[in-house]
Amino acid sequence: MKNPAIRKLGLDVIKEAPWGTHLCFFYDSINDYLDIIKPYIKAGLENNEFCVWIISKDLEKEKAFEILQTAIPTLDCYQRKKQIEILSHSEYYLNNGRFDGEAVITNWENKLDNARSAGFDGLRVEGDISWVGTNRWKLFKDYEFELGNVIFNNKILAICSYPLKKIGAREIIDVIENHHFALIRRNEKWIYAKSFVDMMDKLLDIQNHIKGENIELIKQGIVQNTLFNVSSHEIKTPLSSIKGYTQMLIKEQFGTINEQQKEVLEILKRNTDYLNHLINNYLNLVQLQTGTMKFIVEKIPIKSLIKDTMDIMSPLADSKKVKIDVRLADGLPPLSIDVDKINQVLINIIGNAIKFSPEGASININVKKKNEYILFEIQDFGLGIPKNEHEKIFGMFFQSESIRDKNIKGSGLGLPISKAIVEAHGGQIWVDSKIGKGSKFSFTLPIKSVKARKINLIKGLLE
Ligand code: ADP
Repeated sequence: MKNPAIRKLGLDVIKEAPWGTHLCFFYDSINDYLDIIKPYIKAGLENNEFCVWIISKDLEKEKAFEILQTAIPTLDCYQRKKQIEILSHSEYYLNNGRFDGEAVITNWENKLDNARSAGFDGLRVEGDISWVGTNRWKLFKDYEFELGNVIFNNKILAICSYPLKKIGAREIIDVIENHHFALIRRNEKWIYAKSFVDMMDKLLDIQNHIKGENIELIKQGIVQNTLFNVSSHEIKTPLSSIKGYTQMLIKEQFGTINEQQKEVLEILKRNTDYLNHLINNYLNLVQLQTGTMKFIVEKIPIKSLIKDTMDIMSPLADSKKVKIDVRLADGLPPLSIDVDKINQVLINIIGNAIKFSPEGASININVKKKNEYILFEIQDFGLGIPKNEHEKIFGMFFQSESIRDKNIKGSGLGLPISKAIVEAHGGQIWVDSKIGKGSKFSFTLPIKSVKARKINLIKGLLE
């Protein structure tokens, strides 16, 4: 099954990348610059993405259009469809000659919202940095760091281009730090300027942050939220690179691999997904704790919602030979929800169902209408939960007595966070379960869009 989150970049050096990838490249000549831009924008237009190209200081808008048209003869059709914008740096980045990073980021968010409302899959961006200069460097560097978070958490692909003539070695290091991949042209070919090994090292460092002791620290209130906000970016950036590269290795884009290598890479990919899921739970925890959880409500057909989740969960289920049977009732209406958050709820519940099922078991997912709500039911035939724990499992950091000595990984965060998210959407969540027979987790979401409440439930959950 083709994963819609993996997008074609159109580049020979890196063919595909997941949404949320933030790349950069360094160029010597305008030809090198266009060598990346033309196929990159072309792939975006052909794949139903809204494309924004903020051109180099050395190009005029009309000229840029003409050049692009040589690679994309149907460019004017895309322009009529309002699928592409070509802008000068002063139009986009500056306001009366002043650069305000926060305002520019808000602008990107608005562009993404508009693109999604107009039916495009997401936003593809190219921004040239020839205008920045040393006086604005620090401001711009901070902006790029923040932007990295926005890109990572959204359906955005971005490439920033840096003319080598205008930046020095120190700036190059800053740039490499703030992007997932950096490309540079050598001997007529684009190559990676940032090594995989580099990122692996960084990941290992960061993994130490999220070892078990963090849970205790949060409980004691010692870990400050700033640490999480900083480390989330620090963790997620290399993680998405590792995931992207691993997928490319599995797909043999760097050459043929044998079965054993493939197996190892599949394990690496599953672990990366697990880490990513863990980090999302931690981030949600911090946002709940600080009352800063934001809900971005969008309309989504239930089928797409479930498909997005299944794309992530299927490899985990396959690795345990667990069969997931999904049944959606006919005529289900679309839901207006924060898609990422509800996805996280589904991942938490389905992930548990897989985790607590024996090899080769089945899981049934049923989605149907119930009065003014949509009811999601996730039934497994695994370990089950004793009756006296049915309430407790929705409390923070809870793990059942019955699994403590079974060496099953867990943080006790998935269910309380899921409960907070579902309730903020105006729904409810509960469990029916018998020890040894399995568990059925159910939750509802209102069909009519409700404005998600601002929530700050952690205090209550911890008590
Ligand atoms: P985690 O699974 O990371 O420990 P959760 O909050 O998701 O944290 O779950 C809390 C506890 O609830 C689990 O440790 C487990 O004891 C129990 N639990 C959750 N889902 C299931 C399930 N499908 N079957 C059996 N036990 C479950």
